[in-house]
Amino acid sequence: MDVLVINCGSSSLKYQLINSETESVLAAGACERIGISGGFLKHKASERDEVIIDVSMPDHEAAIKLVLKTLTDKENGVIASLKSIHAVGHRVVHGGEKFTSSVLITKEVIEEIESCNDLAPLHNPANLIGIKACAKALPGRPMVAVFDTAFHQTMPPEAYLYGLPHRYYVDYKIRRYGFHGTSHSYVSKKLCEAAGLSLDDSKLIVCHLGNGSSISAVLNGNSIDTSMGLTPLAGLIMGTRSGDIDPAIIEYIARKEGKTLEEVLSVLNKESGVLGMSELSSDFRDLEEAAENGNELAEQAVDAFCYQVVKYIGAYTAAMGGVDAIAFTAGLGENGCRVRQKIIQRLHYLGIELDDLANQFRGIPMRISTESSAVAVFVIPTNEELAIMRETVAIVGDHIEKPRTESF
Ligand code: AMP
Repeated sequence: MDVLVINCGSSSLKYQLINSETESVLAAGACERIGISGGFLKHKASERDEVIIDVSMPDHEAAIKLVLKTLTDKENGVIASLKSIHAVGHRVVHGGEKFTSSVLITKEVIEEIESCNDLAPLHNPANLIGIKACAKALPGRPMVAVFDTAFHQTMPPEAYLYGLPHRYYVDYKIRRYGFHGTSHSYVSKKLCEAAGLSLDDSKLIVCHLGNGSSISAVLNGNSIDTSMGLTPLAGLIMGTRSGDIDPAIIEYIARKEGKTLEEVLSVLNKESGVLGMSELSSDFRDLEEAAENGNELAEQAVDAFCYQVVKYIGAYTAAMGGVDAIAFTAGLGENGCRVRQKIIQRLHYLGIELDDLANQFRGIPMRISTESSAVAVFVIPTNEELAIMRETVAIVGDHIEKPRTESF
């Protein structure tokens, strides 16, 4: 069957149409600048050149209609009719404590996702808009929600509770949730396959390093700790996000600069991380090039990022009482050879030895530790869309004619 995978942001909508039998991507693309001027659709059908279509999309419903039209039209299409799309899988960022796994989307599920909106005000409302737009455009088609937080719901209270009055957890559900769960889950399974480990008897650390970065400790296949928190702002220094800081800094900046809470949080989300530290770029390619040309701030930003990764790996090794294998994934983890080298050379105390030649490869699955290394280190390309498609098929599965997402 063909499954449409949707990842909806506030002004964008990414999609992939994947055949579940062959797991091949029939088409992939993105609608950008939805609801604002200068909208366009980027569409790439398999074995054809990418096309860019300039078209304004007043809302996500218009974007979905455009995607469906493009998937079926004579020029750029890959399927004869919408009947070929058997199910839709949606990425949903925050499932709170309600969702510990993917679910078939029903009216009740929509309401429960809405009740998590406060926890992810930038993401969940956009995800819901995508779900509702798809329900209108593909009435009666089963749809599945795949949550970024679900994989981390196995964390024990000692890992997810903050040092705050308990009533904040009881009343507002303030706790660590963690994100990138679909990627951490997918990569940890792939890592076990690659390292010849059994998932239910393994101690893994997954480093998802991209524009947003998070690390997780996966013990016997279950996430037992992860670096992001109530929101994706916590943990590592990221492209534009600060990661962990002393919480008193927020009030200090607000007072010094006469800023509101929202304004300070915007600085922490959009103007911080390696972008803010380097005063140059959020992209590690730019930073590495600048550092090579003697830019000290760029070098400091990269070094501080790598240092934090090293600290988390140490902490999670302690949390699991050891580590069998480590994976690097996502844009930076898969491609940033220099960053990987800087991190791994500080892990000698774990008996880890880097294979310098293997580490030069980018973006392909590869063991980058030597055969004699005490811990296996791999680059494992993540594939969240494929994971969402598999989750969708697992839920909709053979009962394709039975479960139906109602119209709403
Ligand atoms: P993602 O958010 O997973 O798409 O990752 C995007 C980030 O990966 C970019 O902002 C870059 O910092 C990083 N990246 C991608 N390619 C490279 C590369 N060849 N070398 C270093 N960093 C890279």
